[in-house]
Amino acid sequence: MPFIPTSPEEVQKRGWSELDVIFVSGDAYIDHPAFGVPLLGRWLESRGFRVGIIAQPDWRSKEPFMALGRPRLFFAVAAGAMDSMVAHYTPARKLRHDDAYTPGNRHGARPNRATTVYTSRLKEAFKDVPVVIGGIEASLRRFAHYDFWENKVRRSILFDAKADLLIYGMGERAILEVAERMRDGETLGEIRDLRGTAYRCSGSGETQGIDIPSYEEVSASKEKFAEAFRLAYLQQNPWSARIVSQRHGNRLLVCNPPALPLTEAEMDAIYALPFEKGPHPSYLETIPAWEQIKSSITTHRGCFGGCAFCAITMHQGKTIQSRSKASILAEISAMTRKSWFRGSVSDIGGPTANMYGLGCGNKDAMKQCQRESCLFPAICPNLRTDDSAAARLLQAARSLDGVKHTAISSGVRYDLLERQPAYFSELIGHHVSGLLKIAPEHLVDGVTAIMRKPGKKAFETFLARFREESDRLGKRQHIVPYLISGHPGCTLADMLELALILKKTGMKVEQVQDFTPTPGTIATCMFHSGIDPMSGKPVYVATSDREKGLQKSLLLWHLPTERGKVLEALKELGREEDAGLLLGAAGSGVKRTR
Ligand code: SF4
Repeated sequence: MPFIPTSPEEVQKRGWSELDVIFVSGDAYIDHPAFGVPLLGRWLESRGFRVGIIAQPDWRSKEPFMALGRPRLFFAVAAGAMDSMVAHYTPARKLRHDDAYTPGNRHGARPNRATTVYTSRLKEAFKDVPVVIGGIEASLRRFAHYDFWENKVRRSILFDAKADLLIYGMGERAILEVAERMRDGETLGEIRDLRGTAYRCSGSGETQGIDIPSYEEVSASKEKFAEAFRLAYLQQNPWSARIVSQRHGNRLLVCNPPALPLTEAEMDAIYALPFEKGPHPSYLETIPAWEQIKSSITTHRGCFGGCAFCAITMHQGKTIQSRSKASILAEISAMTRKSWFRGSVSDIGGPTANMYGLGCGNKDAMKQCQRESCLFPAICPNLRTDDSAAARLLQAARSLDGVKHTAISSGVRYDLLERQPAYFSELIGHHVSGLLKIAPEHLVDGVTAIMRKPGKKAFETFLARFREESDRLGKRQHIVPYLISGHPGCTLADMLELALILKKTGMKVEQVQDFTPTPGTIATCMFHSGIDPMSGKPVYVATSDREKGLQKSLLLWHLPTERGKVLEALKELGREEDAGLLLGAAGSGVKRTR
């Protein structure tokens, strides 16, 4: 199937004189289901809508936004696969010089706050044209939210972007219904009852559903901010959620309940759409994001881990939506026929690889459930942890003609692996390319409890099993632990304890993620308010650049460049006696990460 049109010539080639829906995206156009705009474009196209894409338009004038004319139904705007501020700035708020979603890895192809800027250019170009916003940036900024880059609470993005409707979460159901209802004569202003959407309206009438503290209240009070976050977070179960309203001055934000999860058949249908599986041919330079994902396969969506620093619950939801084995194997087989494929599938996974095929085993409980996580603080007795489908899938994938090797690069939950012996054996025996990335994020129990992650004991148990099984199989494979510094709840003393644990277990980390308070997470709410919104308890937060820097350096104790800061941290803690323990053997006798 030809690429979705991006120019008037390509529109004409399709024999069309106008388009129904035009997407405007902050990312380059890569026709692959891993990218939201092409996925929704193909989805609408399969239902008979004429779709175009304007990718990375120059936002300094309105003309590039007029390239495909005025759509018959609406413009659909997305900042890209990442929030534009996260894409543009480091956790230290320094400007990045690259952009993996742009040809040539070049920075500067999209503006800061792209959703707002694009919408405003469209409204300049076409007076009163209907604009729907969606994607990560719009989804996670749908309520009044803390913005790390301005260090203040901002209004719902709907009030800044002045769009007509916001689609949050994974948008297939909502965008299709919007397109169908508009085709049948409704206006965007009349669509007020659609799951997975939010809209602005006059605040003069009665509010519906749950009224959370207003923008003005959450701006003025950290307690109110945490309360509003909790109330909105608890309305993420699609079966029991109510409408959430939030006043902004004399206007009202109204957020409908989330879309219902897709069935296996619907997931299969989406992944069977006729993607070209590559960047649009007009691009002459390599796009890093494409190189990274082109040989990977998405098996499912959603995550029931509920980690505090992750926004998946607020975007994809807690329900796992899996594809069938046949659908996944068909995609891998098709990939083996691509000229660039060299025999290795780089990933078979989703947000958490070993959640494929799992879910709640008690439908009544699921429909009322308000737990943040099915795994934390302990695995819920209702959770189905049967790993046979996932193990069979991996076995079948590595046995396909043309496949030499299959890896699991997506994260795995090792506390869940305890219940998945078949998946564990398959993973360790066949899908680790020497290094297995594991994300304990921290190993001090007080911190992991705030993160909603399994603690030190679960990690040590997994590490022992991993080493034992690798030895039994005669494989030299190692663990790469992913860790976060500066997370709410983590003190400098906690970071020293973590460094000493790593030293004791013979592990060194090459990279440490400095916590970034991105919109929509429980941890970001803690960072801003100093309160755990779910328990109401106060949480310690390292906010100064100095302390954040010291926390990070402690984990990189083995690098000569960090030695000065490590000594500074030890002095501050009055723990100079640990210098010998931590630094004494740096670079001598400590095994590589394993
Ligand atoms: S009842 Fe248990 S398994 Fe089911 S959704 Fe809730 S936490 Fe998860």
